[in-house]
Amino acid sequence: PDQVLDEDMRKLQRAFPGFKHKYRLIKKIGEGTFSTVYKAEDIQYDRYENKWDLDKENEKWAPPPLRRPSEAAALPTTAGASSASTTQTAQVAATRRPAKFVAIKKIYVTSSPARIFNELELLHDLRDCPAVCPLITAFRATDQVVAILPYFRHQDFRDYFRDMLVSDMAIYLRSLFTALSFVHRHHIMHRDIKPTNFLYNPDLRRGVLVDFGLAEREGTDSKPCVCHEDSSTRRQRLRSAYVANGGPHQGYPKNDTRPSRRANRAGTRGFRAPEVLFKCTEQTTKIDIWSAGVILLTIMSRRFPFFNSADDVDAMIEISTIFGHKRMRQTSQLHGAMYETNIPTIGQNGFDLGKIIMWSTLRNEEKNPLEQDERIAIDFLEKCLDLDPRRRISAEDALEHDFLLMGED
Ligand code: ADP
Ligand code: MG
Repeated sequence: PDQVLDEDMRKLQRAFPGFKHKYRLIKKIGEGTFSTVYKAEDIQYDRYENKWDLDKENEKWAPPPLRRPSEAAALPTTAGASSASTTQTAQVAATRRPAKFVAIKKIYVTSSPARIFNELELLHDLRDCPAVCPLITAFRATDQVVAILPYFRHQDFRDYFRDMLVSDMAIYLRSLFTALSFVHRHHIMHRDIKPTNFLYNPDLRRGVLVDFGLAEREGTDSKPCVCHEDSSTRRQRLRSAYVANGGPHQGYPKNDTRPSRRANRAGTRGFRAPEVLFKCTEQTTKIDIWSAGVILLTIMSRRFPFFNSADDVDAMIEISTIFGHKRMRQTSQLHGAMYETNIPTIGQNGFDLGKIIMWSTLRNEEKNPLEQDERIAIDFLEKCLDLDPRRRISAEDALEHDFLLMGED
């Protein structure tokens, strides 16, 4: 395997001549669906004037403000920014401040240029948020694109989530929701919130959000969904659609004349919000809040992955098992969809999340009841895992919740 790894790195260096004078590749650190990520050292780091104020390996994370715009103007800027005003140039330069250790994200050539551009553009928009991993620069050589990010030391989620105290959970989630509130204020949906995309360092008690490969601006590629209507309009629409489709059906309609629904379903199985599963055509940033809730549920239940569905129908069954038929049916109707099942193990009313957590951690109500701080965490969890995206808590409100206030510095 070492030889394969070397060959990969050699390929990268061949594609970008001059690369080896700039970066010393150290190791492969990630391999996803859309990219391979390497850790590297910026060889020229010591020669830069204006660098991150970092101790070893980016321990002091916050980028220092640039002192004078003229200093920033002296730095290399991206082509698009060269004609911009001084302040804009300064901002661009701020994101280009180098770090000693970098993550080189080599985006697979099978990704469409539009997708790659989207990721780089959104990262640029979010450059001022310390909780979002900034983009230092990016290179392209024919069909190959690499993004250079500061390397952020983090631990594998699987290695620490079982040992987290409620206070640790509050700190972890506060860090995540700080990033989300920033991203959402920019009306950007991340779409792929999960532990591997939130690089958390338990010693520093902070994390950064990465991987905007599936991210999307709210409202692009969206069509009105009845979930945004008031309930009487929605009922009326549902009724007329029902009549138009010939009234009641026995089971699954054989000749379904309804137009098929198309909606963005990008994301990772197990973390998809119910409205994504029901193909809501007008999804909002609330989809990320659901996924963050799944992370908290994972930590509190000490089970990863908590949801382990093979496909969307499986995922609906898993969610229904917890929330029950009744609420699932209401949720489907909210988006103008139908939900029917005869699976006998799914109850009408489902369970409350406190119970689920007690069961999955094999705890006993009498001997080991929920503590006060756990109750606050569960109250928060319920607000993140509200099936109705309109009622689900926003990132901004979440930061004011007692649970996340427990995680304040
Ligand atoms: P993909 O689209 O392939 O999932 P990601 O951006 O999520 O790509 O990166 C994949 C993995 O690489 C991450 O889960 C993480 O382990 C590692 N990684 C990505 N960016 C960084 C970074 N800035 N610092 C350290 N590790 C990183
Ligand atoms: Mg990823």
